[in-house]
Amino acid sequence: MAQETLSFQAEVKQLLQLMIHSLYSNKEIFLRELISNASDAADKLRFEAIANPALFESDSNLRIRVSFDKAARTITIDDNGIGMSREEAITHLGTIAKSGTRDFFSKLSGDQQKDAQLIGQFGVGFYSGFIVADRITVESRRAGLPAAEGVRWSSAGDGEFDVDTIERAERGTTITLHLREGEDELLNGWQIKSVIQKYSDHIALPILMPKEEWDQEKSEMVRRDEDETVNQASALWARSKSEIEDSQYTQFYQHLSHDHLDPLAWTHNRVEGRSEYIQLLYVPSQAPFDLYDRNKHGGLKLYVRRVFIMDDAEQLLPGYLRYIRGVVDSSDLPLNVSRELLQESRDVKTIREGVTKRALSMLEDLAENEKDKYATFWGAFGQVLKEGVGEDQANRERIAKLLRFATTQGDTAEQNVSLADYVSRMKGNQTKIYYVTADSWLAARNSPHLEVFRKKGVEVLLLSDRVDEWALSFLTEFEGKPLSSVARGDLDLGELSDDEKKAQEKVSGELKPLVEKIQEVLKDKAKEVRLTFRLTDSPSCLVADDNDMSGYLQRMLKAAGQ
Ligand code: ADP
Ligand code: MG
Repeated sequence: MAQETLSFQAEVKQLLQLMIHSLYSNKEIFLRELISNASDAADKLRFEAIANPALFESDSNLRIRVSFDKAARTITIDDNGIGMSREEAITHLGTIAKSGTRDFFSKLSGDQQKDAQLIGQFGVGFYSGFIVADRITVESRRAGLPAAEGVRWSSAGDGEFDVDTIERAERGTTITLHLREGEDELLNGWQIKSVIQKYSDHIALPILMPKEEWDQEKSEMVRRDEDETVNQASALWARSKSEIEDSQYTQFYQHLSHDHLDPLAWTHNRVEGRSEYIQLLYVPSQAPFDLYDRNKHGGLKLYVRRVFIMDDAEQLLPGYLRYIRGVVDSSDLPLNVSRELLQESRDVKTIREGVTKRALSMLEDLAENEKDKYATFWGAFGQVLKEGVGEDQANRERIAKLLRFATTQGDTAEQNVSLADYVSRMKGNQTKIYYVTADSWLAARNSPHLEVFRKKGVEVLLLSDRVDEWALSFLTEFEGKPLSSVARGDLDLGELSDDEKKAQEKVSGELKPLVEKIQEVLKDKAKEVRLTFRLTDSPSCLVADDNDMSGYLQRMLKAAGQ
């Protein structure tokens, strides 16, 4: 097919501008992104070759090769992975296929650090090459296609790209960056090697570079006629814990999650027994932009005996842990496992239970030993963790211990009181855990229902998150103490003193006729009017019957059209 010139999708143009102008201070990330794409391409080939081994052709030693040419001022990243057809090059390199593109542009802030994180999250790494290159040429041939169906894609990153069909014997992709003026410092083997070691050491396949040696006579580095492997080149999760440094765990997390921040915590172990698998799980320190997107499920990367099977295997994690990132590598699942099959597999069920337990232990450990980090976790993901109270009956008690609340003890909306803290502060004769629900923290705090609790110094949980009432409907007690809404029926705040009792009886008698009168007037509006000693400042308040829905839930259902 002939050469054609095509325009980038409008969003790509904007993105290129952004990349070039705002990521300059992080320019070496282009290498990480291109190596990560090469590694993905190898994973995809291995996966497709399970069903069709002929795709390996005569070359099954997958590797990435990085080299540079001082005279031509180019850096080349070459892989023998899945490759691209002409159509794939046009769609994958000329448009942003991801659905969240519009969100992405609406979130750009102009702040380099923040925008760099977004680029990672949205997976638009290929274009980062234009930070250092004023022309990128991609030559590729997809595994399984004849040599005559290679493709050359080329662009100066200024709005258009050219595609041409070429003859290409080797399967895979070669990406050549023609460096911009002034980027010559990158044309240095030592420099490139150190960037690779910094960002891509965890990549599971070998990254090769031409071997260089110091020549005494010429007094410069000369290239030998062989390659050397510059990374560790083994799957990080399959190595033993003692051989892995924290910085390697962190880089691997960043590669997996496209997050530029460090994770809050991780856990790594090999499970033996009925089902054998390796798990490496991370808690991110910030929520992704689509945490609440119902169509996006998150999940773990699934491998079977080191072979990549799928991203986002949501069957491996319950919904309330959907922000956990990581890898599960199973020894038992068949290589041809599909999403549908995952749903029915008993092995997957066992793995999911194991992963859930492990993730909860990791959170318990944070809550116990690193309170600041746990507070960060709670701020980012607490709302989602609360869903677990309803979703995961088997682990309800463990989840309940991890919950944090704002209460009448504090002056801020910050949720930092655990149920155990609350119980430890309960008054001598207090038998229940009290809570109030409202649309906002402020409304909860100013609820007239709280007056008598304040007076008696009884702490009350202030609940104002949307999920609270739903979640608490599953949590009826904690350590044998029933949870009770302050807005429900009669209050039993323990024994009152005799004097107080006598005084109340006297007043009740005197006011009986008045109460009956009010009842008569409000007979269509209120089920019952009663005298209360709960209020100290407000003249009256509405309470729900013990068996009725609380006011907040009623309003919520009404808002939802029920
Ligand atoms: P992402 O990797 O998150 O999908 P990128 O912008 O990094 O986003 O890459 C865009 C797409 O281009 C990839 O999804 C892939 O389809 C294709 N691609 C990029 N590099 C390669 C490569 N070396 N081999 C095969 N396909 C590639
Ligand atoms: Mg990528």
